[in-house]
Amino acid sequence: MSISPENIVGSELMDIYRKVEAGQRLSFEDGVLLYNTPNLTGVGYLANIVRERLHGANTFYVSNQHINYTNICNKFCKFCSFYAKKGGPAPYEFDIPEVKKRAALHMDVPLTEIHMVGGINPRLKYDYYMDVIRAVKEVRPEVHVKAFTAVEIVQIAQIGKVSVEQALKDLMEAGLDSLPGGGIEILSDRVHAELFGKKLNGEEWKDVARAASKLGLKQYATMLYGHIETAEERVDHLIQIRELQDETGHFLTMTPLSFHPEQTELAHLPGPTADDDLRNIAVSRLMLDNFDHIKSFWIMNTVPVTQAALWYGADDTDGLVHEYEITYGEGAWGNKSQVLTRANMVRMIQEARRIPIERDSLYNEIVRDEASLPKERKPLIPVAALA
Ligand code: SF4
Repeated sequence: MSISPENIVGSELMDIYRKVEAGQRLSFEDGVLLYNTPNLTGVGYLANIVRERLHGANTFYVSNQHINYTNICNKFCKFCSFYAKKGGPAPYEFDIPEVKKRAALHMDVPLTEIHMVGGINPRLKYDYYMDVIRAVKEVRPEVHVKAFTAVEIVQIAQIGKVSVEQALKDLMEAGLDSLPGGGIEILSDRVHAELFGKKLNGEEWKDVARAASKLGLKQYATMLYGHIETAEERVDHLIQIRELQDETGHFLTMTPLSFHPEQTELAHLPGPTADDDLRNIAVSRLMLDNFDHIKSFWIMNTVPVTQAALWYGADDTDGLVHEYEITYGEGAWGNKSQVLTRANMVRMIQEARRIPIERDSLYNEIVRDEASLPKERKPLIPVAALA
């Protein structure tokens, strides 16, 4: 017996089903309904239609390393566990030799991307940011450098007393290849004022995105959910990002980021559930009809939820992620111990009955001769322990 779409989505979501089938853009009201319906299975079913239309079973990952060059920050965002504070992480700031040392840590792994972000450290000079990029490129000339969120770009421009566009040009000349997501968590004046009022606001964030697109830089988009934002604010964020993408076309991927309250000023909040994680992936897939890719960042969502997310609209898992230090801070799983080997990444995707495809930062497929790959070191933590 075949099951009809109506049996899965129910009468409540049938209008949205018809729009999805016809490739029509979803409205604000549709987005709110997708967040509020108890029928998560129906929402996932709809998102999977779009996901499979675009990518079939293909699931992308990148071989990457993170370098978080400083955790000193003067923005004091309430959701952040990364920045140095009394009773929290000790302050650090990498000098250029340390950046080179970090970039050389995994020379045995064929990395294609180094992702660099840090705090807003007022002691760092304009040239430091160019030197950091040059240092990485000197050690690993082949990698794509994805670096500096919009809030860092504004800081770099301010410290150099130049325009955002000039700062981006100087960074590109030093070797910057694209901009990561982050910098704005939710495009909402209310949430901005309550949680990250010292950071740039939504319009300033959009100006950085526009300047980047004008210079030909690609950028990633994110949405931090599971703190104080409402369903309406999430949908509004997605629609603002969709409109910006209509204008610029330079965003590669949307990553809904699951908020982790541990060791933040919002530690009293429960944090998102697996329902929230899957739903945000699915609603992003459905609302962002002009985005090619939706990512389930396995570090934030865990491996098992990411495996499920590959059926709820996600076609990307991020990557092997050497050296990531932001989400959990010290001590949660042992500092810097969040990494998947290539074999674990492939296994994670195949276990979910999807097809793993290694990509570069711009989503070009990378085909490797298996025999030429280095013998993998043991994973620092087994996949099962990441649940
Ligand atoms: S989120 Fe970024 S800007 Fe905000 S406190 Fe943390 S490091 Fe600083």
